[in-house]
Amino acid sequence: MTTDPDLDPDPDLGLPLVLGEVEVVAVERLSPSFVRVELGAPCLAEMGVDGSWLDQRFKVIFPCDDGSLPQLPMAGLDWWEAWQALPEEERGSMRTYTVRDVVGVGEHRRLVVDIVLHDPVAGEPDGPGNRWATAASEGDRLLVLVPRRGHEFGGREFAPAPTDRVLLVADETAVPAVAGILRDLGPEAAGCALLEVPTSADVQALEAPAGVEVHWLPRDGAPRGDLLHAATVARLGVDPRELPEVDDEEVDPNVWETPVYSSSGEQIAPDPGVDVRDGLYAWIAGESKVVTGLRRHLVRERGVDRRQVAFMGYWREGVSMRG
Ligand SMILES: Cc1cc2nc3c(=O)[nH]c(=O)nc-3n(C[C@H](O)[C@H](O)[C@H](O)COP(=O)(O)OP(=O)(O)OC[C@H]3O[C@@H](n4cnc5c(N)ncnc54)[C@H](O)[C@@H]3O)c2cc1C
Repeated sequence: MTTDPDLDPDPDLGLPLVLGEVEVVAVERLSPSFVRVELGAPCLAEMGVDGSWLDQRFKVIFPCDDGSLPQLPMAGLDWWEAWQALPEEERGSMRTYTVRDVVGVGEHRRLVVDIVLHDPVAGEPDGPGNRWATAASEGDRLLVLVPRRGHEFGGREFAPAPTDRVLLVADETAVPAVAGILRDLGPEAAGCALLEVPTSADVQALEAPAGVEVHWLPRDGAPRGDLLHAATVARLGVDPRELPEVDDEEVDPNVWETPVYSSSGEQIAPDPGVDVRDGLYAWIAGESKVVTGLRRHLVRERGVDRRQVAFMGYWREGVSMRG
């Protein structure tokens, strides 16, 4: 079985996700750092979730170096084993993205994804996702794994109590997720979103409830994460000069600490039966070192209850995020 809990199929339900080949039907360069890709295919008619899409994640398998897509048993529960068993050069590359939107109906349903374009690190091979997105054009083909209507897929983390104020903290890779959350929040929602992006030209118009302030933090050359960290702790009433240091070797590229899951194996405290959440729910996603620094600050030093925060490493500087 897979090591990713999102992808474990339940043998009683059949394949609980849509695994299919899709075609690029539109490409739009939104800004210097974002490209929007619309994917279409008849199999997407089956795509769906119970409730709102929010920060729903999904998997993409990018083509192999020769441009071909892996040959998989698309409807079979053994697709994961079949994929793993393929020779490396025939497997393509799996990466995680967010459902930015779903448009159209039936066989004309389209999956919209916003992909961040990033400079390759000098001397290192470009990431397959970045390479593909940089050159994406209509007619290109990919494999996707998306939720199937009527089946539990997992992959949504945003889960505040109905009365919580929300604090959404994101770098550019999590802007699509925050955009989905803001779109799907009810009109009574209150709180704030802090969004760090590479440049001022990457600021987008986002649909959001009137009670949620949206603050863009363009780096425009500032070190990654500094603006986001300072704005977050200032929002929580802390002196930003007290920021904790995080050493590179301490960073888990896959840091994922939510009220219901801990990548570090931390004990998840049982529900105390009383409201410990202080009316605030924080959802924090981005580069893993930045996220680790925020977690240290909020949970370890400020004593924010881990049940009121979700910290998610979406990528790690210098690390290829396989799968
Ligand atoms: C739940 C979830 C949802 C996500 N949603 C989105 C989304 O909607 N859109 C999106 O663009 N990304 C999203 N990501 C992040 C994306 O999966 C990673 O950025 C991934 O590393 C990209 O793969 P790649 O093939 O381009 O690079 P990789 O092969 O993973 O890495 C190659 C090199 O590129 C660097 N790199 C990777 N991403 C970036 C970046 N953004 N900026 C600078 N350097 C980078 C790595 O550090 C490494 O040195 C999401 C991740 C998760 C976990």
